[in-house]
Amino acid sequence: MGIKRHHLQTELLLTQTKGLLRSSGLRARKGLGQHFLIDEEVLRLIITAAQLTPADVVLEIGPGLGVLTRELASRAGWVIAVELDDKLAAMLRETLASFKNVTIINKDVLKTEPADLFEETKTQFPSRNYKVVANLPYYITSPVLRHFLEASLKPQSMVIMVQKEVAEEITAKPGRMSLLSISVQLYGEPTIISDVPARCFFPAPKVDSAILKVTPYPQPAIDVADTESFFTLVRAGFSASRKQIANSLAHGLGVSKPEALSLLAGANIMPQRRAETLSLEEWASLWRIFIQREERC
Ligand code: SAM
Repeated sequence: MGIKRHHLQTELLLTQTKGLLRSSGLRARKGLGQHFLIDEEVLRLIITAAQLTPADVVLEIGPGLGVLTRELASRAGWVIAVELDDKLAAMLRETLASFKNVTIINKDVLKTEPADLFEETKTQFPSRNYKVVANLPYYITSPVLRHFLEASLKPQSMVIMVQKEVAEEITAKPGRMSLLSISVQLYGEPTIISDVPARCFFPAPKVDSAILKVTPYPQPAIDVADTESFFTLVRAGFSASRKQIANSLAHGLGVSKPEALSLLAGANIMPQRRAETLSLEEWASLWRIFIQREERC
């Protein structure tokens, strides 16, 4: 797209966004992470990454003023849009009334099981395979990822706008791993589609964003039968960041240093290493030793 045309389209979207807010007597609620997308090119990147067909159901989190919802509805078979803000949800029911394949649900997405969201649409569109697409409010990024990746009914893919640093953290490799990267990479493959500058939103947030795509695996990347004890172990490993793993494990698990050393030796992991350097496979080996000991106690 030419620079001039792109600029004009962004101006147009900004004017429309401001106009919609004014005519509905609304203001962007920062507490709900309301930063509306005003860039056509970014909209196109999100839509392309989602790879939609008329056979798809899209679950959109936080449709806001509906700029993304319209594009989704014209490509997918059905769009279920979950908006927490009562006033926005009411407004969307009016402004999107001409789209017969959109269901607006006025709920907190984190308080709703993904499978339950399909109840209202099942007579019109029976598919229960779905793709998540969202310009997410930043403050719910990690809970949303866990909510969907650990759900009984998992999405086929997630294309979400997140804070740029968070996208980098999620896609990190051993050396820069964290609790967040492990909890996403256990369930799926994350890739950054594009960086998105703050000026692509109204009002502009203080930080830059990135479009992140997560494609869930059919099975978790490593074989851990009990994710609760796995994350107890991983949390303990990261409980004292930048410390040697032997010390952070002892501290986080509330065990003696010799016990922590023995766990690490059982998994062939050098005690001087830091939690950030362990790969998923190494965490799985450590978990196997950990769970054997737990069962023995
Ligand atoms: N999709 C719109 C866009 O791209 O312009 C709006 C995106 S805005 C960053 C995030 C939206 O998520 C807001 O409309 C906000 O009200 C909504 N929201 C915030 N917390 C939510 C929650 N827990 N469940 C559902 N929607 C939520």
